[in-house]
Amino acid sequence: MTANIFWFRNDLRLADNPGLAAALERADKTALIYVLDDKAAGDWAMGGAARWWLYHSLLSLGQAIAERGGKLILRRGDAGSIIPRLAAELKAETVFASRRFAPWGRMQDREIAEALKSSGIALRRHLSTYLFPPETIKTKTGGTYGVFTPFSRTCYDQGPPAPAIAPPERIDSPRGIASDALDDWQLTPVKPDWAAGLRAAWEPGEAGAKQRLKRFIREAMQSYKTGRDIPGEDGTSGLSPHLHFGEISPAAIWRAAGRSENSGAGRDIFLKELIWREFAAYLLWHHPEMPEQPLRAEFAKLPWRDDRESLQAWQRGLTGIPIVDAGMRQLWQAGWMHNRIRMVTASFLTKHLLIPWQQGEAWFWDTLVDADLASNTINWQWVAGCGADAAPYFRIFNPVLQGKKFDPDGNYVRKFVPELAAMPDKFIHAPWEANAEVLAAAKIKLGCDYPHPIISLTRGRERALAAYKKISGRTGEKDG
Ligand SMILES: Cc1cc2nc3c(=O)[nH]c(=O)nc-3n(C[C@H](O)[C@H](O)[C@H](O)COP(=O)(O)OP(=O)(O)OC[C@H]3O[C@@H](n4cnc5c(N)ncnc54)[C@H](O)[C@@H]3O)c2cc1C
Repeated sequence: MTANIFWFRNDLRLADNPGLAAALERADKTALIYVLDDKAAGDWAMGGAARWWLYHSLLSLGQAIAERGGKLILRRGDAGSIIPRLAAELKAETVFASRRFAPWGRMQDREIAEALKSSGIALRRHLSTYLFPPETIKTKTGGTYGVFTPFSRTCYDQGPPAPAIAPPERIDSPRGIASDALDDWQLTPVKPDWAAGLRAAWEPGEAGAKQRLKRFIREAMQSYKTGRDIPGEDGTSGLSPHLHFGEISPAAIWRAAGRSENSGAGRDIFLKELIWREFAAYLLWHHPEMPEQPLRAEFAKLPWRDDRESLQAWQRGLTGIPIVDAGMRQLWQAGWMHNRIRMVTASFLTKHLLIPWQQGEAWFWDTLVDADLASNTINWQWVAGCGADAAPYFRIFNPVLQGKKFDPDGNYVRKFVPELAAMPDKFIHAPWEANAEVLAAAKIKLGCDYPHPIISLTRGRERALAAYKKISGRTGEKDG
């Protein structure tokens, strides 16, 4: 009897999983394992919202495996000893897995590959969570891209993704291998139970991912060009947590979008977003220091402020700027925030409040169900102006103008900041501009029912521009 191991990482699915297919094809029995190794991940161990997701995703994967006759083994601890020990116990020839991109995961893979090799066992990694191997996308001179558009052109030149791989019909797992009980990992909150909003918003797992993709293609892809910018509508796919946990492959999304008759500009822009996801992973691959350090080194010298009180107001959605507060409360409730509002809230933190982008990055890391080292990092650096191909620092989002433009009837703000529900559209994004009569009619006493802005937008903007001038010598330009 031959046995192999398939080691699940952020590829928690049975369909379109090349490593899994290879492992099942090449042995009589395949042990399927997931290892939760917080120590190896260090500062980038999963945050609270992602742990909630992981619990449900593993539950769903375990059931799908059991329906096919197999078993998902769960282990918590040092993967560096768990995997080689299991391989030795099973006399496995090969450990199959998907490639990882986080620097800590890459380092661990190198160490485990070495340890396995010394016992004559191979670690074979397949690309399954991204479309393009990062080392193959090169500039004409063989260098690394730092700008999105030429990077994306090279990606498009690679041609369509590989054909789909069907999920296995049967899985034969070796018997008698011990597994932890998922509930013992305590991944979900008990007291206080902050996950009610997450339960209402999401269905983690492969089936939930497929449903989301179907809904998006049927109802929203065609109008994505404009719909993706309206936070009060369901205009985007909501696939990010499913993609992060690998419950669906980017290739499957690409193929399904391509097949759809609901095409048009919406589809092309949607597919471009998937390439942004590739770009994020590519940059992290080539700049592993990115989660902690700005790509543009001079930004380390920006006179950032240490301001716990403002940081806390931002985290709790109590800044007094409605669109910012709505975003931060959506994040807390649903573990997700609309992309446009991620940009607005991140800009407010790093520019108006002049709080280091790493502090915002850490909060998102803990609260997003789609918290992803590559995408979170590159986007925070993009907004803060210190990343590759970033928005220039002096381009400062004005949250009131952003609100008026993208949430003109205030639907989004009213949903997440219900105390402002009765404010007329004209003042919903700037309640401090309303006179006493308007505020009284909306039953709002500023400073009591809803905060005064924690900073004047004009003063915050000027302070940010002055700080930027210190590191660049540039003067300010216009508001976004
Ligand atoms: C400050 C900040 C932090 C972010 N942190 C994360 C994060 O931790 N994890 C994460 O997945 N995305 C992150 N994003 C990117 C983006 O906001 C989300 O991917 C998107 O909102 C997810 O919603 P969706 O699935 O409906 O996206 P759609 O609009 O439906 O897009 C489809 C897919 O494309 C990818 N995508 C879209 N926009 C981007 C982008 N700007 N960068 C990289 N990939 C993108 C996502 O995988 C997304 O699921 C962040 C953006 C900002 C501004």
